Amino acid sequence: MIQDFFTAAWHEFTSFWQLGEAYDIIASGNYDKLRTLDGVLSFVKPIIPFLLLFEILRAVFYKRFRIEDYKVPFFIFVFNRVLGAYISIAAVSFCIGFFSEYAVIKTRFTWYWLIYGYIVWEFAHFIYHYLAHKVRLFWCLHSSHHAPQNMNLSVSYAHFFLEGPYANVIRTTICVLAGLDPPLLFFIMFIDGTWGTFIHIGDNIMKDARMGVLNRYILTPSHHRVHHAKNPLYMDTNFCNLLNIWDKVFGTLQTEDRTVPVEYGITRKINPKNFWDVYFGEIVFLARDVKNAPGIRNKLLYVFMPPGWSHTGEHKTARLIRREARDPLQRNELPAQ
Ligand SMILES: [Zn+2]
Ligand SMILES: [Zn+2]
Repeated sequence: MIQDFFTAAWHEFTSFWQLGEAYDIIASGNYDKLRTLDGVLSFVKPIIPFLLLFEILRAVFYKRFRIEDYKVPFFIFVFNRVLGAYISIAAVSFCIGFFSEYAVIKTRFTWYWLIYGYIVWEFAHFIYHYLAHKVRLFWCLHSSHHAPQNMNLSVSYAHFFLEGPYANVIRTTICVLAGLDPPLLFFIMFIDGTWGTFIHIGDNIMKDARMGVLNRYILTPSHHRVHHAKNPLYMDTNFCNLLNIWDKVFGTLQTEDRTVPVEYGITRKINPKNFWDVYFGEIVFLARDVKNAPGIRNKLLYVFMPPGWSHTGEHKTARLIRREARDPLQRNELPAQ
């Protein structure tokens, strides 16, 4: 009984730190595995949790550590651990099984299919992420991730438990239909997950996150800080994860303007220290709007229109806020008479 408890606790500990496979290799003494992709990945995976630890230790050292910056994201992480992870795996397996036979082409694990696969994956990610911001129902699932008013690696763990399954259904379906082979898909998911966590690196470790010339070609932590901002200039931009091609194609790319400091968070009034508000707040507000809306049509529109849409016509969508903010900017840019 006690041994079971320790085995389970050890399993939880190593799976958070992603140390299990690396530990197995060291314990077995068989380092041949390092010649395989799996072997190398087992040593790459713990980088993010250790970077998170380093970020916290550094903040403590410089006396800038505030527990509230990490508390809610960690609480959410624990809450999601069981529910979200298992539903996500089930959703991915279901989509692969169901849609494989409808694939338009067949790919294999080669470098050129990897390039193709990544462009498709990034497109699928763009679609999921764009809808997460533009359809109010999906925003209810995604807003927990945008609630923190500070940027650090723990933010990448802050997601509503149904967001993973929702994201994976869309991404896996598009990728499977585009012919991505499961091993290729899983490899891309691994790179995407690692990079997706890294772009939440705290300002305390990486002050200027533009990464030099890379800022032009890939989606850097600087771009993702912009994505997490509530400044009108930055709202609803940078939906990509690693390659920013689709943001370029769809005109949603926004680089960090050093004269406009990023203000993290969401536009509604929120108590970022309150788990219930961060996790369920948007759902409560949506339910209230649906209840008060006149007629079934308006009720449905609240669910599917972008956040900020109103049946009274007094919309406060990101698009309108951006446009309103841009007008005075444009006026300022006019040459002085
Ligand atoms: Zn987002
Ligand atoms: Zn993020």
